[in-house]
Amino acid sequence: MIPYGRQDISSEDVDAVVRVLRSDFLTQGPEVEAFEAELAAYVGALHAVAVNSATSALHIACAALGIGPGDTVWTSPNSFVASANCARYCGAAMDFVDIDEQTYNLDPALLDKVFTPLTKAIIPVHLFGQMADMSPILEIASENGIPVVEDACQAHGARYKGSKAGTMGIAGCFSFYPGKNLGALGEAGAVVTSDPQLEAKIKVLRDHGQARKYFHSHIGWNARMDGIQGAVLIVKLKRLDEANERRRSHARVYDQLLGGLEEVMTPFTAPYNDHVYHIYAVRVQDRDQVLQALADKGISCAIHYPVPVHLQEAYRSLGYSIGSFPVAEKCAAEFLSLPMYPELSNQQIHCVAEELKSVVRAGQTHEWVA
Ligand SMILES: *Cc1c(COP(=O)(O)O)cnc(C)c1O
Repeated sequence: MIPYGRQDISSEDVDAVVRVLRSDFLTQGPEVEAFEAELAAYVGALHAVAVNSATSALHIACAALGIGPGDTVWTSPNSFVASANCARYCGAAMDFVDIDEQTYNLDPALLDKVFTPLTKAIIPVHLFGQMADMSPILEIASENGIPVVEDACQAHGARYKGSKAGTMGIAGCFSFYPGKNLGALGEAGAVVTSDPQLEAKIKVLRDHGQARKYFHSHIGWNARMDGIQGAVLIVKLKRLDEANERRRSHARVYDQLLGGLEEVMTPFTAPYNDHVYHIYAVRVQDRDQVLQALADKGISCAIHYPVPVHLQEAYRSLGYSIGSFPVAEKCAAEFLSLPMYPELSNQQIHCVAEELKSVVRAGQTHEWVA
């Protein structure tokens, strides 16, 4: 049995939790503040504001930027739905451009065509652990005088031409959901920014719209991070680079074993990118059957994501249909995420690759049983 993912909780993590449980700060408090400082230093931003999820991080970043009714925000349809929902929470419209077929990230060449006076922000998603092509995105945004908010939820520690994910736009949003490259013990997220005014606004909005207790300048939310999450994230952040290095090394082995196969498309890394392989997604034909055949052999894979956001029922009002974003749709039908986590052994990687090979080869000669 090879599971798709695995939790990594050390005794040091448990000690950190116990320390918080015995302290006076179960929500926010000194451990969360210390984590904010560590995270900001790690990515190379001036500030980090810890929140209770990346969904909150994206929402509050949009709200702090003044995005609201009448505005349109653009993102990639090839993502988790939270990348799109944030603008809708603010009463703005969300819209999409198709992705680049090699990197699976928003295609900057398509952005130029969508600019109207209503366009208020761009949210590139650094999918699977590889950053979107930020230079042209930032250039188009700055020509049009609008902000870029990075969805860096899958890209902790990834770099683009040397810059870390989260630091290139005005704000970068991270998730510390347990399965992410940096995972908490439950729900957690953060916004990083080097803009002091934006930081101040985000801090107020995450805490009921108050800068001073019981004095509310804004209608805010409760999006504070628990103390135990801050404490455990400080400890785990120290292990992030090493964990990312292991993911990269695993990816190299998968690449070697699967790279030559006609039936399997391995991931492409753009030369300007340092990939952190949150997800190692290959592309195969008859993906659902391949997934099932591997599951039958005890190998759990996953699909990220089976339905692109523009085809989700919740986004039906945009009027898109099959064929609207052909690249995203084609990829969504072919993506297969193989097991990828630091603890994976070489033997397990070989086993996954061998079984995948035999399954896709069998598919060439036999009729698939639906
Ligand atoms: C995980 C994820 C989110 C949401 O993060 P939460 O912390 O679960 O709210 C948003 N966008 C992307 C790309 C993600 O992978």
